[in-house]
Amino acid sequence: MWRASVLTIFPELFPGPLGASLAGRALGQKIWSCEAIDIRDFAADKHRSVDDTPAGGGPGMVMRADVLARAIDAAAPASDLRSRILLTPRGKPLLQSRVRELAAGPGVVLVSGRFEGVDERVVEMRGLEEISIGDYVLSGGEIAALVLIDACVRLLPGVMGKEASHAEESFEAGLLEYPHYTKPQEFEGRPIPEVLNSGHHGKVAAWRREQAEKATRERRPDLWGKRKDDPPKKA
Ligand code: SAM
Repeated sequence: MWRASVLTIFPELFPGPLGASLAGRALGQKIWSCEAIDIRDFAADKHRSVDDTPAGGGPGMVMRADVLARAIDAAAPASDLRSRILLTPRGKPLLQSRVRELAAGPGVVLVSGRFEGVDERVVEMRGLEEISIGDYVLSGGEIAALVLIDACVRLLPGVMGKEASHAEESFEAGLLEYPHYTKPQEFEGRPIPEVLNSGHHGKVAAWRREQAEKATRERRPDLWGKRKDDPPKKA
């Protein structure tokens, strides 16, 4: 079973939306598990404080290293081989390649930050991998943790069903996916592209590839430039 443990001051947020649909069914089937650990349970004072004022001054509060370290050690002793990850806008952007690696492993231990962030020493001393889900600032790491877990869980064997292929999805070949169409044949005067009704598999595949390349070139020049399998042609 693939295991996700999330350290948070809002354990009631888990599994949240991951209790529904495919991920929820897989949770019920014990393909994966979701454990939310309340960081406040590891506080040392009667107020269950997890944060304090920033050293050097400045606004906001910072999560204490000692409290967080106790929570991490309880969730994942040294023998636990799962990746330990801190969700933070300072981290490396989460990519599908890392999602694939994490989904292929035993699971994840995720630290959800709050306030201004967490004391740097716990990041260093517990070897936390810092991951960001995008260049914007959320108010807490919980939604980022749900995003990371969702991306992994849908890749676990048995979650998406046999008919679903990951191979053609966005990012798998360094490209965004081609556009999709279904019935009705005509919607507000716009027909489905003719080639998709041709029944010619080769032509459909070529059209989809062309559309995937066009979307990637136009929307994500960063991805287009990085493609290894088929480097962009000079204009
Ligand atoms: N002061 C921090 C900064 O400027 O980098 C932002 C702190 S944010 C208000 C609180 C928490 O939300 C962070 O500690 C982190 O756990 C989470 N968070 C915010 N944005 C995130 C992102 N883009 N990816 C992952 N986690 C994020």
